[in-house]
Amino acid sequence: MTPYDTNNIFARILRGEIPSHKVYEDDDTLAFMDVMPQSPGHTLVIPKVPSRNILDAAPETLAKLVLVVQKVAVAAKDAFEADGVTVIQFNEPAAGQTVYHLHFHVIPRFDGLPLKPHSGTMEDQAVLAANAGKLRDALAR
Ligand code: 5GP
Repeated sequence: MTPYDTNNIFARILRGEIPSHKVYEDDDTLAFMDVMPQSPGHTLVIPKVPSRNILDAAPETLAKLVLVVQKVAVAAKDAFEADGVTVIQFNEPAAGQTVYHLHFHVIPRFDGLPLKPHSGTMEDQAVLAANAGKLRDALAR
């Protein structure tokens, strides 16, 4: 398996070298808005420890991560008055992975609204900031 690249975008977000719209953080986990959302409120949930994807992640890392994935999914459904939530996770290029730090996509879904393409169009920063605020408010409820 290809080794973990310490300069991948999410590692740089974790180190504070690249800005992100954060919605949740604890000792082990960070959640922030995807810059190319496939649906309004598309959020990424990542562990702070390095792993390339689910294939090399420690079980303890996954156990902590999935609890936050659920927390964010519940809050996202509330924050965006979504009809459902898609949770997706890609492993290696053949499966569609483009950033090689383990992450779960949490994507609010709306009846009749298809997903936009994966890694498609960059969203306006003001929209991302507003959506991050809505999600933070829902997480605080
Ligand atoms: P993957 O294809 O690896 O599962 O997903 C990577 C995700 O990261 C894509 O949905 C893409 O839109 C998002 N992404 C790529 N670059 C950045 C970035 O610099 N910041 C944020 N917040 N998301 C990014």
